[in-house]
Amino acid sequence: MRIAVIGLGGTGSAACRYLTKAGHAVVAYEQFGVGNDRGSSYGESRAIRYGYTDSFYTHLMKLAYRCWDELEAEANEELRVRCGSLFFGVEGNAFLGKTTQALDAENIPYELLDKGEVERRFPAIRLAENELACYQAEGGFLRATRCVLANVRLAQQHGAQIREHTPVQQLITSRERPVVVSSHGEEAYDRVIVTAGPWISKLFPDLPLHLEVTRQQVVYLQIARHPERFLPGAFPVWIDTDRLIYGFPQDGKIEGVKLAVHNLGEPVDPNSVNRVVDESYRLEMVAYALKRFPDLCDHVTYSQVCLYTNTPNEDFILDSVPNSPEVWLVSGCSGHGFKFTALLGKLVAVLATDTAEHEPSLAAELRSIRRRFALRRFLKPSSG
Ligand SMILES: Cc1cc2nc3c(=O)[nH]c(=O)nc-3n(C[C@H](O)[C@H](O)[C@H](O)COP(=O)(O)OP(=O)(O)OC[C@H]3O[C@@H](n4cnc5c(N)ncnc54)[C@H](O)[C@@H]3O)c2cc1C
Repeated sequence: MRIAVIGLGGTGSAACRYLTKAGHAVVAYEQFGVGNDRGSSYGESRAIRYGYTDSFYTHLMKLAYRCWDELEAEANEELRVRCGSLFFGVEGNAFLGKTTQALDAENIPYELLDKGEVERRFPAIRLAENELACYQAEGGFLRATRCVLANVRLAQQHGAQIREHTPVQQLITSRERPVVVSSHGEEAYDRVIVTAGPWISKLFPDLPLHLEVTRQQVVYLQIARHPERFLPGAFPVWIDTDRLIYGFPQDGKIEGVKLAVHNLGEPVDPNSVNRVVDESYRLEMVAYALKRFPDLCDHVTYSQVCLYTNTPNEDFILDSVPNSPEVWLVSGCSGHGFKFTALLGKLVAVLATDTAEHEPSLAAELRSIRRRFALRRFLKPSSG
């Protein structure tokens, strides 16, 4: 089949790789460069973990980990840093309780650690007396930009045509075959897969997608003492489940350590985003970090603004478009979707090409995935 992919973030790049591996003729359109810092898939680290409060996602992670292993093997480079994940919070909090229930339901091993045990194993971290932690050894982080670049490189090796700096201006779905309009003119395809992240609503002006794009901020703080305590192995990916603040070990590329708040941020238009981190945010992160990690200091070594594309319940959208079964979209990856992009790319590749039955590893889950990520669940009520 001749297939267009619109948007080369984590999901689109993975879809390209899977489609070209299966022998399809793929043309990919990216409005900026491959590996750009305007969408959501840019940076040195995105957390990967089994820990979810909903066992549906813990289960899905079993499939996602396999996809990342495949990519790492094909790319022949380290894309996933295995440093463990640590969820902590006040003992008895619902987040921790549900997370351990989900891990139990999926038979994923973990350890519960008290303050003393956490501080012995991870000496950079301080817990309060009433806090408890859940450690899961397979947690870690993905080198996001490198994952995108690896997918695109492999897709090109399989014959994908990558068109950078080529925004798709319009997607016409009213003709016999879907038509992509760009600086290359009007081009018809057998299938079109739209993975345009924060810009996706602009390509479907008639579809009342229930999506909100929000501005998110990230800072890296300088290490004042004991840098060895912040290396992967001595320091895990962590989440404070009461405050929804999270962070990473040193990533080996950017000085300091990264931390951020997972909240829904302010709604923005992706074309006009203030890309400078707020001073109030910097102060909030510093105040938190100095109590939790006394070996850090208040100097910000690097900061970044990034975008979430949120559905109301943070479930993803993976479906074909009403009345245009040749057009598929994947969206709503929200603030937790990178770890699933390899899987979402694979899923949309097999679903759009009607080859799901050739993928026994996915067959058992397809029905529940289709139901959960169905587009109709994410259309605003005004659509009737
Ligand atoms: C600060 C931050 C921290 C995060 N942390 C985590 C984490 O720790 N773990 C995790 O799993 N997830 C995390 N996420 C979420 C995750 O990064 C996103 O869900 C994921 O990257 C979304 O990928 P995507 O492919 O859907 O979209 P994107 O990466 O945004 O890709 C969309 C691409 O489409 C292109 N495009 C758009 N419109 C057009 C057009 N008309 N023509 C051509 N190209 C177009 C864009 O330029 C862009 O390159 C985080 C996100 C942010 C912002």
